[in-house]
Amino acid sequence: MSSSYIGRFAPSPTGPLHFGSLLAALASYLDARSQNGQWLVRIENLDPPREDPNAADQILNILDTYQLHWDGEVRYQSQRNQAYLEILNRLKRSNHAFPCGCSRKQLAGQLHNGMCQLPEHLHQSGDYAWRFCVGRGQRSFIDGLQGEYRESLENDIGDFVVKRRDGPWSYQLAVVTDDADQNVTHVVRGIDLIDSTIRQQCLQQALDFPIPHYSHIPVAVESNGQKLSKQNLATALQPDESGNTLWDALLWLRQSPPADLRNSGNEAVLKWAITHWQRQALAGIKENPAPLDFLRHN
Ligand SMILES: [Zn+2]
Repeated sequence: MSSSYIGRFAPSPTGPLHFGSLLAALASYLDARSQNGQWLVRIENLDPPREDPNAADQILNILDTYQLHWDGEVRYQSQRNQAYLEILNRLKRSNHAFPCGCSRKQLAGQLHNGMCQLPEHLHQSGDYAWRFCVGRGQRSFIDGLQGEYRESLENDIGDFVVKRRDGPWSYQLAVVTDDADQNVTHVVRGIDLIDSTIRQQCLQQALDFPIPHYSHIPVAVESNGQKLSKQNLATALQPDESGNTLWDALLWLRQSPPADLRNSGNEAVLKWAITHWQRQALAGIKENPAPLDFLRHN
């Protein structure tokens, strides 16, 4: 029996999956499956020069090993150019997007507030970005785990880029386009992305898209406060360690699987975890709900 819940996991293929991204995958998977929802996987490969050509396949293989099975076809953002172009055109037509040739030097570390005049020579060369006109005032939303989150449009956000000067689509425009196109109703992801949420909601509103329900889980950080990433402790997940790592990930997400399930295989462990998923165990927590010491032993 399926419900109207549609969730997703949307990694950027900049390297193999590590523990930090497994947590986001697992939490979004459990939240979706516990509500009989669908769980989609989308590869956010918008910037090929910065990506590892093998990483997408590696990520999908690891998800498979963990028995985190997704619904439908995997979507690749690299194949969505036309859809993003149409969305940009809609934003242009409704005067929500404007061309901007301001250099980093001109902005001098300040946010971009209000439309600017594009110099004629840039107009001809095509050497400019497109920005979303964010407006002014306060905007907030209620996060499923973190409570109310509020930002000032002009002081915290500014007119943000939707198409980069050097060509690629921005993360914000692509995410909003695909979440709407795939009818995503629930977004569960790391709290490091919480400050993108109001940008995304502004775009959704400008485009008349439904606004999904957002929950931001804590991130795994090293003792020096650095987010786990492939640059530090977070070594790539190993397929033959999946049983131990899945168990550790559940404990880290403050779930309490019974000890006698420990060696019964990923499928059985996930089945238990879906039935007993307690998202609220993570409410209000921003980082490391449990120590990361075990990562060093693996
Ligand atoms: Zn500008």
